[in-house]
Amino acid sequence: MTTNKLQVTPLGGLGEFGMNIMALRYGDHILVIDSGMMFPEEELLGVDLVMPDFAYLKENAEHVRALILTHGHEDHIGAVPLLLSELNIPVYGTAFTLALVERRLDEYDLEYEPSLHPVKPRQLLEIGPFKIEFIHVTHSMVSCVALAITTPVGVVIHTGDFKVDPTPTDNELFDLHTLADYGKRGVLLLLSDSTNADRPGYTESERAVRPRFEDIFNRAERKLVISCFSSSIHRIQLMLDLSQEFGRKVAIVGRSMVSVTEIAHSLGLLEIPDGVLIRPQDVMNTPAQKVTVLISGTQGEPMSALSRLAVDNHKHISLERGDVVALSSRIIPGNEKAIFRMLDHMSRRGADVLYGSMNPPIHVSGHGSIEELRLVLNLVRPRYFVPIHGEYRQLSKHARLAEHLRSSGLEETFLLESGDVLELEPQSARKNGRVNVGRVCIDSGSVDEVVEEVVIRDRRHLSEDGIVLPIIAINRHTGKIETLPEIVSRGFASAEDGSTFLQDARQVVARTLETSTVEEKTDWGVMKEKVRADLKRYIVKETSRRPLIMPVILEV
Ligand SMILES: [Zn+2]
Ligand SMILES: [Zn+2]
Repeated sequence: MTTNKLQVTPLGGLGEFGMNIMALRYGDHILVIDSGMMFPEEELLGVDLVMPDFAYLKENAEHVRALILTHGHEDHIGAVPLLLSELNIPVYGTAFTLALVERRLDEYDLEYEPSLHPVKPRQLLEIGPFKIEFIHVTHSMVSCVALAITTPVGVVIHTGDFKVDPTPTDNELFDLHTLADYGKRGVLLLLSDSTNADRPGYTESERAVRPRFEDIFNRAERKLVISCFSSSIHRIQLMLDLSQEFGRKVAIVGRSMVSVTEIAHSLGLLEIPDGVLIRPQDVMNTPAQKVTVLISGTQGEPMSALSRLAVDNHKHISLERGDVVALSSRIIPGNEKAIFRMLDHMSRRGADVLYGSMNPPIHVSGHGSIEELRLVLNLVRPRYFVPIHGEYRQLSKHARLAEHLRSSGLEETFLLESGDVLELEPQSARKNGRVNVGRVCIDSGSVDEVVEEVVIRDRRHLSEDGIVLPIIAINRHTGKIETLPEIVSRGFASAEDGSTFLQDARQVVARTLETSTVEEKTDWGVMKEKVRADLKRYIVKETSRRPLIMPVILEV
């Protein structure tokens, strides 16, 4: 590869929601920025997690120098354990981000001690030909940074996720000055968050939810049950403060809520007023008007504390008539059914359920809207621009927002998708080929259980067309088939309408067995595959359906 060019390759998160990961390459040096996961969409049946495919990084393993993290949301760190299980590279991020990474690593057995290096905003880091400065940004989470990466061909700014919050709850302002300084000196490439590129105006400050919650606290006559993302430290701080002001004790409930608040507290990012906390087991014997329950499970996750509370299956806490439940979170598309089912259960128990869009808001987004995106574009004034973090329509809207910069030095905007390689020199940039990208599906939260594509295909067939089991009995001594094969089916419509279809299918299987050689018959793997193929051909021809076919061979 030519050494005087910079290659910028998104490996995930462009043209798709979540799973953010990007590679920067100069010569024999590769930097990885973020390593996130994605929550599965509906077509990935029964899969729990979706991770990026690291094929490109594995092929170039000896050149990968470090992983740099912008912040601790799952779509940026969720695949760190999987990446570290493939590559032993140093990881850099703020202390809070790394603490969340460690929490994930605890669930996974790495064969070595990973090297995690905490960094602070304004800190400079040198890795090979890259000089990296961390710039504090505001977002729905604490301790988030953008990256200014000085390379031999010019400066690359990666915003991470951000909104421009003029009144952040922790008073840590977006460091627009440093961003503007880079803009003044000249930026080759800007990579900027596009999540809300289709939202006009400005995103509300994290403080904007306070009036709504003051109102909720004012009116609530019984228990207050409040749920938000466990990583929303700003939101949790607000609930602790309001509870203190209104004379309520707080119980923190749910595994992730407990561990993330402990991490934030230990790093000095969350102030817990003295004596405000009570244990979950003390909630029911404290007067209801004196209790706030902070609980995890905003997305209706079936095993979450909030879901269990909804069906009165929580070890310590019950919902009672007159309790107020407030969801201070966004309803992630795809989760509507689960969330609404949970809210229905709670309403049935007589709780007043508050969620969705309200004015004043009960939840605000963590991503900048159009005017904020414009502000960052105007401050950075890049020569080249690549919208990142978003589906194609959002990337394309964001690209349009940069058009007016043509007169201020913008040469070109590139709409990249995951896998596209952008090659930059000081005076030029062009798309140059693609690298392999893809998804890895994982079951039940364990990084060990990578679900093959074939499993997903099987699950789709099962759900659409059911299952067909041809059962073949072979005599252990003679190796002969004793009786006509049986066929059992479930959820396969054509088999249940009383036609002769099943009878005919049995004949098809019998014929396959008869026409097989003795050698084939002794190899059950081969026999199963032959039976499956012949039966499939028959079923597709007769019914145009594709049920899952699983031959079973029994020795009798
Ligand atoms: Zn984020
Ligand atoms: Zn994100």
